[in-house]
Amino acid sequence: MRILIWYRNDLRLHDHEPINQALQKQAQVIPLYCFDPRQFGQTAFGFPKTGAFRGQFLLESLQVLRQSLQSLGSNLVIRQGHPERLIPQLVKELKIDAVYWHEEATAEEIAVETALENALDKLGVESEIFWGSTLIHIDDLPFEPEQLPDVFTSFRKAVEKNWAVYPTFATPEAIPALPKGLEPGNLPTLPDFGLETPIADARAVLPFKGGELAGLERLQHYFWQTDGLSVYKQTRNGLLGADYSTKFSPWLALGCLSPRHIYEAVKQYEAERTSNESTYWLIFELLWRDYFRFACVKYGDRVFYPSGLRGLKIDWQQDQERFQQWQQGQTGFPLVDANMRELKHTGFMSNRGRQNVASFLTKNLGIDWRMGAEWFESQLIDYDVCSNYGNWNYTAGVGNDARGFRYFNIPKQAKDYDPEGAYVKHWLPELAHVPAKQVHEPYKLRPAEQKRFNLRLGVDYPNPIVDLEKSVKANEQIYNAALSA
Ligand SMILES: Cc1cc2nc3c(=O)[nH]c(=O)nc-3n(C[C@H](O)[C@H](O)[C@H](O)COP(=O)(O)OP(=O)(O)OC[C@H]3O[C@@H](n4cnc5c(N)ncnc54)[C@H](O)[C@@H]3O)c2cc1C
Repeated sequence: MRILIWYRNDLRLHDHEPINQALQKQAQVIPLYCFDPRQFGQTAFGFPKTGAFRGQFLLESLQVLRQSLQSLGSNLVIRQGHPERLIPQLVKELKIDAVYWHEEATAEEIAVETALENALDKLGVESEIFWGSTLIHIDDLPFEPEQLPDVFTSFRKAVEKNWAVYPTFATPEAIPALPKGLEPGNLPTLPDFGLETPIADARAVLPFKGGELAGLERLQHYFWQTDGLSVYKQTRNGLLGADYSTKFSPWLALGCLSPRHIYEAVKQYEAERTSNESTYWLIFELLWRDYFRFACVKYGDRVFYPSGLRGLKIDWQQDQERFQQWQQGQTGFPLVDANMRELKHTGFMSNRGRQNVASFLTKNLGIDWRMGAEWFESQLIDYDVCSNYGNWNYTAGVGNDARGFRYFNIPKQAKDYDPEGAYVKHWLPELAHVPAKQVHEPYKLRPAEQKRFNLRLGVDYPNPIVDLEKSVKANEQIYNAALSA
């Protein structure tokens, strides 16, 4: 029996149900990854759909998967093309009996899966589709996905009451060789997709490396070597440094790390080291991740609509100039600018940073949240369609749990989370000499102070592009008008 395993956002060998099931059937397994040109096109607002940092992380992850498969006796077959056309062709050529894959939750991915399933059906070839991206299996939810509560806390409480996490699937120890004559194919390079190799920035929180091995090492580091997990709840809102949070997200997004594997490691850590609110909080955050995925299952395409899951028709702006100032970290508000420059130079940004820049874009600039979401999609190495669009829905106030007009007070957030100004100075060298208590509001510096701190506002660093208070008030009115429409 021959089974083709179609790899997608599940680039690992541990806890991989499709490969596990295929091996149990004593099948000859053919692992395949297909570069879909649609993933390398442009977003609606004209950004590369997969930017260079994300592209690089993907290529590294595939390289590692290939090496791991080779070390077990197999290989990763690599092709470029539309999976729904390419896989049926391979199935015919190689007389494959079944195709196994992990299911996705959003429109573009589902369209491809459905087309593939139909094509395989016509060939009389079995498709077996597995759910493997979340901590809680979709079949183990205590309600039908259509009944998903619209408030996260209700979801979490219901799930915690009926707690059910599948044990992980064993990592294979050997995999039969590929059929003779099957050419594995070369791993493409970034220039093949018109992308330049990004320059590693020494200021990055981590030198992120794609692939299952680096993901597992990161877990080892954060849990067992540094005990970062034991203080996660206190440090998780940090902005600077490798260990304020787990940094698991890029590996989770491509499936190099399985959430169930993380869960089992947390349980082991609790048994052997300590069990406290921090160890619980990591599971809590993984449930947020699950929640956004299930919300996409429930609401389908609505997560991409400007009116969001909630269907709130806000009169968004698409001001290109303002948007570019935000995108390039040139707004005149150091917390926003430092985060946007970190994203641009590294492909990563903290959760606290993401919330602030998203609030600024939508609640101060009143700009269409989809422009921000697409820029994140292009840049973030941890881009995950459900977490990204779900979180943007929330911060834009169009999520299903939206509680009126909420916004972040940027200078207050900056003082609370970066009291010494170390983070903003890390990314904005032009503010290096401004004392901590003034660095978050450089626009308040008098000319003599600017001179003393070696900073010329409007020359070295921009003047603010909006009045924070006035802009929030104006956007609140627009929001309230949409609510009462
Ligand atoms: C506007 C916006 C866009 C975002 N886009 C993405 C995205 O594309 N991909 C992505 O993985 N996360 C996204 N997030 C969520 C969150 O910012 C990142 O998961 C987190 O910063 C990753 O760092 P970490 O792994 O160190 O997180 P930790 O704090 O260590 O959390 C552990 C894990 O829990 C999950 N998690 C934590 N917070 C959230 C959250 N709010 N929503 C969903 N999952 C969460 C992640 O898988 C994360 O890796 C977004 C948040 C915002 C506000």
